[in-house]
Amino acid sequence: KEDGRNTYRFFEEDMGTEVNDRRELILDLRNAAANGEMELYFQPQYTLSDYQISGFEALLRWNHPTRGLVSPGDFIPLAEDTGLIVQLGEWVLEEACRIATGWPDHLRVAVNLSPRQLRGNAFGPVLIGALMKSGLKADRLELEVTESVLLTDTEDVVEALHQAKSLGVKVSMDDFGTGYSSLSYLRRFPFDKIKIDQSFVRSMAYSDDSISIVKAVIELAKNLNMTTTAEGVETRQLLDMLNDIGCTDAQGYYLGRPMPVSQANELIFTCPQAVTTAAQ
Ligand code: C2E
Ligand code: MG
Ligand code: MG
Ligand code: MG
Repeated sequence: KEDGRNTYRFFEEDMGTEVNDRRELILDLRNAAANGEMELYFQPQYTLSDYQISGFEALLRWNHPTRGLVSPGDFIPLAEDTGLIVQLGEWVLEEACRIATGWPDHLRVAVNLSPRQLRGNAFGPVLIGALMKSGLKADRLELEVTESVLLTDTEDVVEALHQAKSLGVKVSMDDFGTGYSSLSYLRRFPFDKIKIDQSFVRSMAYSDDSISIVKAVIELAKNLNMTTTAEGVETRQLLDMLNDIGCTDAQGYYLGRPMPVSQANELIFTCPQAVTTAAQ
């Protein structure tokens, strides 16, 4: 009985720590971008037909003054719950566009969006502002949204995405296949690209059923005039399989990890061979 009570108390204390932790992180998050603690990393995306880099996905990193590097999985949900994502997302968009203007014209930058950023009618002006301030050509920007984006406030969201498309911005469906009803979303919005979720790609290594599923998604995308990017490609074997079944693009640790902008620039400018040989 004693033990039981002790366990209970410890459990309570743990919960308390967690709540304080969360509160503290939220407070820190408020000023993180203004304090220069946020940084964009860039992961290369390759076209499979020629193994050339087609662009980079911008992935947010938080260099916390005392905690060190905090991963997006740990702070994006907090930013979403508190609404801080709107302000943070605007910073991400502007920063990504600004950096991409330093790259050759054929390279795109992909930016992840949270549902909350597309609510109401604030997103249009933010998007136009980011393009104008940076001078980036609209068709060099790609917006990545997950199915969850289309789950709530569908009308606002669909309108915001249509506005982006009418400006020439590309729109991709991220993490395809993990959501509740992926197929119905393809009907609701004309995406330019489907990003096949890592979980399907990874399981292709040992499951014929997964290969069939990925094949079907690629076929579907082709018929809808969408390209397909396989996410989470970690081996040469997977890359070859994806190429064989007609996937158009790929991204993953085998091809390149997310890296600071200085390294991305090195990859682009100082060793052009790396672009063609990275996957060979
Ligand atoms: P995502 O958009 O699906 O991004 C892909 C995630 O998979 C990234 O994790 C990337 O580092 C990781 N990844 C890429 N290739 C491989 C691989 O071969 N193997 C494995 N195991 N992982 C791989 P990251 O950077 O931790 O980001 C996680 C998620 O956080 C992203 O998933 C995205 O949903 C969200 N996120 C990141 N940056 C932003 C942002 O600026 N805004 C918003 N709203 N969400 C963001
Ligand atoms: Mg993404
Ligand atoms: Mg993804
Ligand atoms: Mg994801």
